[in-house]
Amino acid sequence: MLDRLQAQAPDALLALIKMHAADARPDTIDLGVGVYRTNEGATPVFRAIKAAEQRLVDEQDSKSYLGPEGDTGFVTALMPYIFGRDATMGGRIEGMQTPGGTGAVRLAVALSKAAGVTRIHMGTPSWPNHVQILSDVGVEPVLFSHATAEGGADLDAVLGAIRNAAPTDAVMLHGCCHNPTGVDYTDEQWDAIAGALAKTGVLPILDIAYHGLGKGLDEDVAGVRKVLAVVPEALIAYSCDKNFGLYRDRVGAFYMMAEQPDQLGAITSNANALARANWSMPPDHGGAAVRTVLRDESLTQQWLDELDEMRSRMRRVRARLAAADNEAPGLNLAVLGEQNGLFAMLPLSKDQIVKLREDHGIYMAGSGRINVAGLHEGNTPKFIAALADVTKD
Ligand code: PMP
Repeated sequence: MLDRLQAQAPDALLALIKMHAADARPDTIDLGVGVYRTNEGATPVFRAIKAAEQRLVDEQDSKSYLGPEGDTGFVTALMPYIFGRDATMGGRIEGMQTPGGTGAVRLAVALSKAAGVTRIHMGTPSWPNHVQILSDVGVEPVLFSHATAEGGADLDAVLGAIRNAAPTDAVMLHGCCHNPTGVDYTDEQWDAIAGALAKTGVLPILDIAYHGLGKGLDEDVAGVRKVLAVVPEALIAYSCDKNFGLYRDRVGAFYMMAEQPDQLGAITSNANALARANWSMPPDHGGAAVRTVLRDESLTQQWLDELDEMRSRMRRVRARLAAADNEAPGLNLAVLGEQNGLFAMLPLSKDQIVKLREDHGIYMAGSGRINVAGLHEGNTPKFIAALADVTKD
């Protein structure tokens, strides 16, 4: 049977990592893989997480099984940061732990399908795994354009998708720090989106993978909260892998908002059954570390400070790139200063991307997506000069 399988295209970003590792030039720049980096180019373990992990080593007395819902203390501790003071919206929200944000997105799609959703509208470009998950679960993706050529969000496209959606459609939106464009909806745009969702009753699936890496913890979920305030139901996928630096520990959460509190039992029982059939239960360690941080005032403060440091570093890099707008005219670097998070898309041709790699040792995805966190004070001038070089004709 197995020789029937056709080889799949290798993951382009993983291929890029290999290429970069094989490049012996001393001053290469890796803007490919989507992890945060410090000014020194490192992706360190958060100090707050290290301290929490030490506590777990000292105090954890069992690694016996949890249920498919994982560490409920972790799930609950996150909720005020996402949903605000009334963290359950009057008892209408319940959540569970998942293997990363990926597990949460998968569960959101699978649960919506179990509820009768057949198509999910989503902006393009998007995190490539969104379409892969939809196809794997068996829900049809319907694409609308996410960003305009000017570098803002395409409000007409998302509103059109919502207004024309069938009753069995859902719409998937990035909560903040859009991957790969960095283009988020403005407050006014979120108002319009929330209004359209409330009017049509289309189920929103909100994916929050970079909370706190854009403008601030409250600012980054202001749009999501606007939606949740007016719609009857919603599904929310959340990742702690970036904002707690836990990538390989696979830490995520999936929240379900029901119209009435008494509907939550049936909804969560379906999510539990799906989780059980997929991964049985999520890995515990990272979620337990996040819970330990969030239940301790001083560790929470340390985490908030570390997150602040990351966010302000990325804002500084963005400001530096925006200020270089006239050095590479045509790339509209100015708009990078207004966009959010780890990523931005540069309108570079395939040839220009190859030239950046071959002539300058600068590695980025073939789409023109850059990881802003791969830049720092030391290498940003080189990057800007290289952009000027490849765009000069
Ligand atoms: N959603 C989006 C938009 C993402 O960019 C990512 C990660 N790159 C995820 C979900 C999943 O994150 P995780 O690594 O926690 O699975």
